[in-house]
Amino acid sequence: MTRYFALVPAAGSGSRMGEGLQKQYRTLAGRPLIRHALDALCAAPGIAGVYVVLSPGDLEWARHDWSALALRLHPLYCGGSSRAASVLNGLRAMARAADDGDWVLVHDAARPCLATWHVDKLIREVGSDPVGGILAVPVADTLKRDDGHGRIAATAPRDGIWQAQTPQMFRYALLRRALEHAGEVTDEAGAIERAGLRPRLVAADATNLKVTYPVDMGLAELILRMREEA
Ligand code: C5P
Repeated sequence: MTRYFALVPAAGSGSRMGEGLQKQYRTLAGRPLIRHALDALCAAPGIAGVYVVLSPGDLEWARHDWSALALRLHPLYCGGSSRAASVLNGLRAMARAADDGDWVLVHDAARPCLATWHVDKLIREVGSDPVGGILAVPVADTLKRDDGHGRIAATAPRDGIWQAQTPQMFRYALLRRALEHAGEVTDEAGAIERAGLRPRLVAADATNLKVTYPVDMGLAELILRMREEA
């Protein structure tokens, strides 16, 4: 039987958030930021295990209490120098647990507002796809290219342009092979595209935002509180 695993790269420095504690451990709605996505993934009924890729020198993870998630959660201290390297190292470290045909949902630690329905929709729409797919949203704003000096050089057409989110879901062997050959890519779908395949786009929504800049913490907190009250 095909199984589903989650793999969460969490070995980045988060330098755009400013100095101090790594982004995923900052407090968001009373918990470490990363905890929110891990709660959602561990609660998803279809997911057999959740692997978290940490920096080899991460001292912070062990300071928190993960016991409520312990049955499904597996920290791996094998982060690399880029997101793609961290994901590939994580896939290699999961080799004994995952079969070639198992699905792996790669989710950024920096997307704390992942909801159960996001995961359910992705699994439902991609679970029988031969390639795999990702959550994404169609771009709503008009896009401008700058000239390097704070002025607009061109307007880029937005028709058919999507913002890629995570989770990104591919079969274990395909994803590992694609990342081994892709070189530098900023997401898993990029590696699969370089292998000549076309991942499926699954429409999500803007609440699955990536916390990159300090202002995003406030937005993420509002989204989580709004859901709690609903
Ligand atoms: O830096 P950015 O927000 O693009 O990172 C996306 C995700 O990739 C984060 O969860 C981050 O921790 C992870 N990452 C990683 N290893 C790196 C760089 C980023 O696991 N070397």
